[in-house]
Amino acid sequence: MAIASVRDSDGVAPILAKSLAGERLSRDDGLRLLASGDLLALGAAAHTLKQRHSADRVFFNVNCHLNLTNICAARCGLCAFSRDARDADAYCMDQQEAVERVRAAGESVTEIHMVSGLHPDKPFTYYLDMVRCLRREFPRLHIKAFTAAEIQYFADISGGSIEDVLGRLKEAGLGSLPGGGAEVLSDRVRERICPRKATAGQWLAVMRAAHALGLKSNATLLFGHIETPEEIIDHLLSLRSLQDETGGFQAFIPLPFHPENTALAGTCSRPGAVDILRMISLSRLMLDSIEHVKAYWVMTGLPAAQLALVFGADDIDGTVREEKITHAAGAATATGLDRRALIALIRRSGSRPVERDSLYRMLRCC
Ligand code: SF4
Repeated sequence: MAIASVRDSDGVAPILAKSLAGERLSRDDGLRLLASGDLLALGAAAHTLKQRHSADRVFFNVNCHLNLTNICAARCGLCAFSRDARDADAYCMDQQEAVERVRAAGESVTEIHMVSGLHPDKPFTYYLDMVRCLRREFPRLHIKAFTAAEIQYFADISGGSIEDVLGRLKEAGLGSLPGGGAEVLSDRVRERICPRKATAGQWLAVMRAAHALGLKSNATLLFGHIETPEEIIDHLLSLRSLQDETGGFQAFIPLPFHPENTALAGTCSRPGAVDILRMISLSRLMLDSIEHVKAYWVMTGLPAAQLALVFGADDIDGTVREEKITHAAGAATATGLDRRALIALIRRSGSRPVERDSLYRMLRCC
């Protein structure tokens, strides 16, 4: 769809034209795009940019999720996953259990995606030794683990610096960081929804340090709760600015908030498909220096994830296998998908499925 042909009742056509001409969008541009009712215009422009980056390719990987423990000292208002140690369904894996879970995921897996609660009693060495053990048992697999909030917590409990914690984890076998724990990079929001974990400044500082050590990462945004439009745009600008400095973000992943079973239940409703597609498109338009935009199917749902592939996203995450965190908050998606189902979903969007590794190297076209 040509942007010029789109009805421009809310004045976004010049902003989209600017983006397509390779000009960087401003804060004010972002706010106007976010307020626009012209979703199709945003989507068409974002899809054009996606095609320039990745052509008709859409990336996925074959991964397995591993959540070592749901016992967490932070007990964030946004979280349905965490438990206190005395709760009947609290758990904490030992190395043997973790190894068995990864082994059960099968031979085709290329990545372990591991995030967990901030256990109040386990020392940093519990996590460090776990990485060492997984590296030893699965030398072929990439270990993508620990949100920036977890890294900050490890520094707090170990008394070491962020650089020291990251350096030791890298030496033990850590390959990259996922992008979670960013929520919204606003201390006003964090004070309300996650007051006991890393501040916005700490989250960014961990990512800066990781990138300096050669550890790539992703970045997320959790939207659809108490955040304002200004806070969303400022979040994107903070990430864009850090990316200009380090180049370490591989993908951006906007995550629709699931309020069920959280302390915020009843105060907001889950974002719908239009909200999700607007955020995917906006991300592609604003984050001109982050190569990949991911539609995380577990949280968007499969229909919205598939649509996102023509609204600016070029990645749909992976097979996942055993998702716990979003399902604790009422996600209706499967807890995992097999490789064939992901490939079929991508193909039916008119895109070419490409299996990638954790660092976006192409493994095979499907
Ligand atoms: S979001 Fe993370 S840090 Fe917060 S309570 Fe849940 S597991 Fe803990």
